[in-house]
Amino acid sequence: MSAVHTLGPARHACRACGMCCHGHSVGLSGDEPERIRRYAAELGLEDPIDDEGFLRFAEGRCLFLDTDKLCRIHKKWGMEAKPHVCQVYPRRHVSTEAGIRFAIDPTCGTGWQSFEDGPIEDPAPVDSPTRRPYPPPEVAAERAVIQATAHPQASVAGLASLVSGGPPVATTLPEGFPDRVLTRLREARLGQLFAKPELGSAVGEALEHLPRWLETGAAPPPWTGRLTPTQEAFTLDVVRRALWLRQAPPLRPVVLGHTLVLTIGALGCAWADPAPERYGPALAAWTRVSMQRALWLRLFPDPTVLRWLATGT
Ligand code: SF4
Repeated sequence: MSAVHTLGPARHACRACGMCCHGHSVGLSGDEPERIRRYAAELGLEDPIDDEGFLRFAEGRCLFLDTDKLCRIHKKWGMEAKPHVCQVYPRRHVSTEAGIRFAIDPTCGTGWQSFEDGPIEDPAPVDSPTRRPYPPPEVAAERAVIQATAHPQASVAGLASLVSGGPPVATTLPEGFPDRVLTRLREARLGQLFAKPELGSAVGEALEHLPRWLETGAAPPPWTGRLTPTQEAFTLDVVRRALWLRQAPPLRPVVLGHTLVLTIGALGCAWADPAPERYGPALAAWTRVSMQRALWLRLFPDPTVLRWLATGT
């Protein structure tokens, strides 16, 4: 197995929020189906595996998730009894044209609490990481955004400037950008999208205040000082990890589109409620939704809308 590349120390501490037990597809392998059926029978749960071999979800949440947000398999039989996918989350590996990469999944609901000082996770590779090679222009674009997020003066305003074709370091949002973002967020009918059961109810709950705020018709609040320096750092870290792990849906242009979707989400979540305990889970949930084609197609149904959103032309 080849060396694993990282963005630096990958820090994480699970706070058992249960968000990862909502909406994710959990595939089973080896003896897992047989084991899961046995556990389900002992717990009095019926039909734990769907027709495609995935753990069954009911109303967007794992059948085994208890009311205290803990996994019933983990509680009764221990961590190693869970499916492999659940044991390794939020440790993620991806296979790229330049080797295997590792990072903590930025969709973890409490990453905002441990991204700076949580225990360092071992990047040891898994057997067959998902393969996501990019063509050379996307590799170059990805490198530029990842470098921009690591700049000592990096900021969300700088990201917005970068996706608008400006310099990667900026202290204010590009002129007209907030209004264009607000227009597209309102057009996207987000409440309807977030209510889809396949996204997972915890994802919808973490984001439900965003469409409510959009419906008030409020103008974008001033950006300067909207987020604390730690929240700015968290946002940049989320964008960096989402790009590093290539979590975008297969749409083009993938890097510009993904960076734009994540930047828009950061602005929307911060406008709707910048309190850390609201903003952190909301940005994680938005990052999860950013993996869905449906969100991209609602925000920019065609390339001209994407260009207008980014540059105003
Ligand atoms: S989303 Fe993150 S913090 Fe929440 S239960 Fe899963 S791994 Fe733990």
